[in-house]
Amino acid sequence: MSGRYIGRFAPSPSGPLHAGSLVAALASLLDARVHDGIWLLRIEDIDETRTVAGAAEDIVATLSALDMHADGPVLVQSQRRARYAAARERLGAAVYPCGCSRKEIADSRLGLASDGAAIYPGTCRAGLAPGKLARTQRLRVPDVGAPGELVRFDDRWLGAQQQHLASEVGDFVLQRADGFWAYQLAVVVDDAEQGVTDVVRGADLLDSTARQIYLQGLLGYPTPSYLHVPLLANAQGEKFSKQNGAQALDLSRPLQELQRAAGFLGLDTAAATTREHFWSLALSAWAARFGPR
Ligand code: GLU
Repeated sequence: MSGRYIGRFAPSPSGPLHAGSLVAALASLLDARVHDGIWLLRIEDIDETRTVAGAAEDIVATLSALDMHADGPVLVQSQRRARYAAARERLGAAVYPCGCSRKEIADSRLGLASDGAAIYPGTCRAGLAPGKLARTQRLRVPDVGAPGELVRFDDRWLGAQQQHLASEVGDFVLQRADGFWAYQLAVVVDDAEQGVTDVVRGADLLDSTARQIYLQGLLGYPTPSYLHVPLLANAQGEKFSKQNGAQALDLSRPLQELQRAAGFLGLDTAAATTREHFWSLALSAWAARFGPR
């Protein structure tokens, strides 16, 4: 059937599934189901320096234990490097080698992008200075005021969004100094090649969306629709993440874990005493807010 909804959950296997990532997984699954869509799973192990052995299998097993089963084979980014290299080739001269170290970029004092990375000042745009060796490969973004520099999109949860690529991000890295392809390139290629129509994920990735939309345009890919769910924070107000030791899920209480994640999304499933009942309540509550009209 053409035009069918395809959604996905794309965890990085840097540790077990935790309460924060379950919220994103649950939202993406519910959205796919209420749109009679397909829900895919992708293991984002492109940053192999962060991969923890066994974490991918553990995440898939945890999702299964919570009745969350992907509708198709699981895609694994570390097996797809040739696809990212092919996309980089198609970008041609829009990508250029950069010899700047992190410190040199930080010292340029253009400030920090909202994701904490220093805004790149464009030092190597016109070619590497004599004696400088290529470290990374960067994508040239349009100059301030040029077409495409201001990226706008409507987020289904957060409403109208916009970002100026030149002044808020700068030319961004597609291939890292350690040779690994950057998340931004891999996610755009994979979403397109998996036919993803709807991205539902955590709001920590809101800031990456404009870069991804810009790359989709250059590569001739359609832009999916986006919905970013709020991030679960711990008692200190910090984002739950594997880095700050977010607690693993208690799989001896699957119903309670699902109810907690649903509650965080504002879905009332408190009346459920079985998982079957949970899914029916969660689906109706999500459909009432985000279902097809
Ligand atoms: N792999 C990313 C993460 O675990 C998610 C990427 C995405 O959903 O676009 O944070």
